[in-house]
Amino acid sequence: MKTISPYKEATDVILEAGGEPLKLCYQCGLCTAVCPWNVVRSFLVRRIMHEAQLGVTDFDSEDVWTCATCRACVQRCPRGVEIIDVVRAVRRVVASLGIGVVPDALRISAKNIAGVGNPFGEAPEKRNDWAKDLGVKEFVPGTEILYFPCCVPSYDPDVKTVARSVATIFNKLGVDYGLISTEARCCGESIRKAGHEDTFQNLAHNNINLFANNDVKTVVVSSPHCYHTFRNEYPELGGKFEVIHITQYLASLIDEGKLKFSKTMNKKVIYSDPCYLGRHNNVYDEPRKILQSIPGLELIEFPDARENALCCGGGGGRIWMDTPKGERFSDIRVEQAVEKGADIIALACPYCFLNYRDSVLSMGKAETMQVRDIAELVAEAV
Ligand code: SF4
Ligand code: SF4
Repeated sequence: MKTISPYKEATDVILEAGGEPLKLCYQCGLCTAVCPWNVVRSFLVRRIMHEAQLGVTDFDSEDVWTCATCRACVQRCPRGVEIIDVVRAVRRVVASLGIGVVPDALRISAKNIAGVGNPFGEAPEKRNDWAKDLGVKEFVPGTEILYFPCCVPSYDPDVKTVARSVATIFNKLGVDYGLISTEARCCGESIRKAGHEDTFQNLAHNNINLFANNDVKTVVVSSPHCYHTFRNEYPELGGKFEVIHITQYLASLIDEGKLKFSKTMNKKVIYSDPCYLGRHNNVYDEPRKILQSIPGLELIEFPDARENALCCGGGGGRIWMDTPKGERFSDIRVEQAVEKGADIIALACPYCFLNYRDSVLSMGKAETMQVRDIAELVAEAV
């Protein structure tokens, strides 16, 4: 274990790891005021900024791993401080220098992602098994769309239904799409936010080369995390392809008159904005447009929606960590959905799916509150 002297040396390593934005912080505390953690327990993000400025960061503190990178604070910071970059830099120092303590669950997922390219430690050659009986073809040069479902729908038995719904819709509408070979790896978004930069670089270069070698021009994704990193982070590493979230793609098919619904769904549906689709990438309208197009479906809103939506708690690598009961944001959301009289919580993110699924199960609400991805609802109503 290396020791970093406090004061300037510690600040310098955080700056070198990408923490440059911390210089702009003037300690107003607005970030702490809007951070969702303070709904369930104390978490002083302003203090994290100040300690990094002073070089007295406690690299052993669990606070290093608390931020869910939801961007609520960045959206409100009057100095435009990219707070998430500072958090990522502190984590990068811990991960690269071997100081501090990486939570056990995260350590295992990080090892799996680095070793076999997915957080579950599953065999890479099983990545496309979810589609086995659906007649989905392999992507070849000339195919219009590459569908990239994310590791969670590819491997998690409960979430496979998300990818299978997309394939069902695409098959029904005659979309020219395919799946890339099982050499594909995790997009790397969450592990980068958890400070594992070298792993991220390896994953990104693998995927970028794979896509380029197959002449991929358009990728449709189910995960806002894949969307974010493919669209905003891969280009600087050489990634050159268009990225479309499945909700954007389905909304455009509705506009073009190619996606029509034949069934009625008489349900009250509440939509939860994923941070990485909403605040990180300003996609708010398309998911709502799809839901409002389903006959009979009544769309209702959470008390805090769109830019103010409460995070599910799964960003920043936290999806791979344990969050104690009483501190889970998705539990709060389920309570809100019950109060609003919703029958279904509609989602557009596999990480949200995992968290909401666990919440309804642990809260004993699984019989009365459905957790569904928008693609599942579309597949059912089309
Ligand atoms: S809101 Fe911005 S300027 Fe204010 S304390 Fe937080 S990071 Fe610093
Ligand atoms: S990104 Fe979200 S969870 Fe992280 S400090 Fe900001 S408000 Fe809190």
